[in-house]
Amino acid sequence: MTSAREDTIHVDSPVDGRRVGEVRCTTVEEVRDAVARARVAQAEWGARPLRERCDMLRAIRARLLARRQDIVDIVARESGKPRHEALLHEVMAPLELLTYFADEAERILAPTPIPMHLMVHRQSRLHYAPRGVVAVIGPWNFPHNIPFGGAAMALVAGNAVVIKPSESTPLVAEVALSIWREAGVPHDLVQLVHGRGDVGAALIDAGVDMVEFTGSVATGRNVGAMCGERVIPCVLELGGKAPALVLDDADLDRALNACTWGGFANAGQVCASIERLLVDGRIHDRFVPAFVERVKALRVGSAIESADIDVGPLVNLRQLEIVEARVKDAVAKGAKVLCGGHRVDGPGLFFAPTVLADVTADMDIVNQETFGPVVPIQRIDGDEALIAEANRSHLGLLAYVFSSDGARANRVAERIVAGTVMINDVIAAHAMAETPWAGLKQSGIGSTHGDDGLRHMCQERHVNDEAMPWMDRELWWYPYRAKDVALLERAIGGLYGDGLIDRAAHVLGKR
Ligand code: NDP
Repeated sequence: MTSAREDTIHVDSPVDGRRVGEVRCTTVEEVRDAVARARVAQAEWGARPLRERCDMLRAIRARLLARRQDIVDIVARESGKPRHEALLHEVMAPLELLTYFADEAERILAPTPIPMHLMVHRQSRLHYAPRGVVAVIGPWNFPHNIPFGGAAMALVAGNAVVIKPSESTPLVAEVALSIWREAGVPHDLVQLVHGRGDVGAALIDAGVDMVEFTGSVATGRNVGAMCGERVIPCVLELGGKAPALVLDDADLDRALNACTWGGFANAGQVCASIERLLVDGRIHDRFVPAFVERVKALRVGSAIESADIDVGPLVNLRQLEIVEARVKDAVAKGAKVLCGGHRVDGPGLFFAPTVLADVTADMDIVNQETFGPVVPIQRIDGDEALIAEANRSHLGLLAYVFSSDGARANRVAERIVAGTVMINDVIAAHAMAETPWAGLKQSGIGSTHGDDGLRHMCQERHVNDEAMPWMDRELWWYPYRAKDVALLERAIGGLYGDGLIDRAAHVLGKR
């Protein structure tokens, strides 16, 4: 929960409303200066051997491991995330990412030869050079993991980074930066700028060479347009509306446990949260009461006071109001509240874990991202109808399939339009640094994570060299002569004719 007065952002905890801290907003001039200083620092950093840059990730990992409690504490206070999740999402996942790219960056960014098809007398290689200064603009729901994960990948690729954290979670970014400084990251190489959306826009306008943006579809459109105007690459990681398809042969216990966690982890404020639970009609009546029982057992509470809680608050009042509006719209259109459905009394921004039934396609709750502790259940008969409903969304980030028949689950998974489909599991793909994380449809453009995610932090430069250095001319160079035209005719037919006989006829001049 934040309030911004003049040039200061005050951070009040969504758990109890108490002031956690404040940061001063960066001015437009300071943003420009930060990018200019980053550019100078990058020149030296980008020239360092890749091995040294990998060692820097290892140094960051060591300091992060040592100071993990600092991250957990500030995340618990600033965003109310349960300590279990703060440790898992904001410490362990970044440690894994640092480890993967420290160990693998040399392989991933090694020059890559391209096998030649026609011009075998030439040879091609791809080189991966740093882009320069990368702007990382982050959301509040994974306030350390996402911006600093992106920054680590940019850094090892040889870039400088300027990070704009969300105005809702600037304090964890300060703690993280202090950890990076302790690890020896040069001062100007990685910097923070603070503020609201205008500071993010100022950063894109300050001459950066690439933008990695994670946030809502609405802001992503603006960011993409700004990058288009400046002709700089961007990766957009936007919203999700993940469906979980529970097929009629699902292992019920696993599906119930997974869907409970997948719907309510981080109070549903996860781009990969289960936002639509699609249950086959043949198991619906067994599944739903057992699901509601599990959801009712979730313990809502303060991560500041206890580690024995399951669900924390919404991050700010706006988010709480969105959740309330979605539930109100659904109920007005005929949805039934099976549990929850209301705020929790007290100073914090808590909403009771909610399950909705009798949900129909005209409700906002199934069409728009909710980003809260609410799971709407739809009863759907058969795999074809489940797939059709899963694909009936403008978003395509994650999807989940539950079935005890691996081949059937895979057949269904391959037909769902989503960047990642997990079978009998939820959300955890984000912690797999080696796999791509990418949204389809309006969920985004480009991927973070995975080998291609790291390569995308680089300029891909193609060098084409001679493989037969003794040739003094190419066939198609000047001067043009009639006999060469005839030769070219035969060669073209010989190369692209339909089958061996046709090609031979061309070469022999018979076509
Ligand atoms: P927002 O789009 O509101 O904000 C994201 C970031 O962009 C914030 O730092 C914000 O600053 C900044 N910003 C706002 N306006 C501009 C602008 N015009 N130019 C540049 N930057 C700007 O998203 P939220 O922070 O609310 O994050 C939640 C959203 O993020 C959800 O939709 C969720 O699905 C998505 N998300 C996607 C993920 C993915 O991997 N695909 C992962 C995590 C979240 P400020 O906060 O100060 O307004």
